[in-house]
Amino acid sequence: MDCLFCKISEGVIPAKIVFENERIVAFDDINPQAPTHIQIIPRKHIATVLEVAAEDRELIGEIIQTAAALARERGVADDGFRLVVNTNPAAGQSVYHLHVHLIGGRSLGWPPG
Ligand code: AMP
Ligand code: ZN
Repeated sequence: MDCLFCKISEGVIPAKIVFENERIVAFDDINPQAPTHIQIIPRKHIATVLEVAAEDRELIGEIIQTAAALARERGVADDGFRLVVNTNPAAGQSVYHLHVHLIGGRSLGWPPG
């Protein structure tokens, strides 16, 4: 499948990987929007959050826990951080492989643009 994040998961395209196990990969964003900007993805190809199935529930929970662990590791947990899942064009999704942005290390405006 011609999917950028599948290729990162498979090691075909390099990335600065900060965590990985059999189910999940986390890597630094190539165009960081904050001092901490990490992508947490399932190795399984899921195009958007709209395609998450009942059988993926545990996987999604593990992704969220991984994001929280990375937030602590990076020292942004106490100050605060944001997890973002952009979905479809109006939200600016550009890679159609489910990914959770972990963004922190600076003050974040609300509402988002
Ligand atoms: P989204 O717009 O929510 O689909 O987010 C896609 C994210 O992937 C953006 O923040 C990009 O900077 C990031 N990105 C694109 N290509 C790469 C890459 N090769 N390695 C790491 N991050 C990437
Ligand atoms: Zn994929």
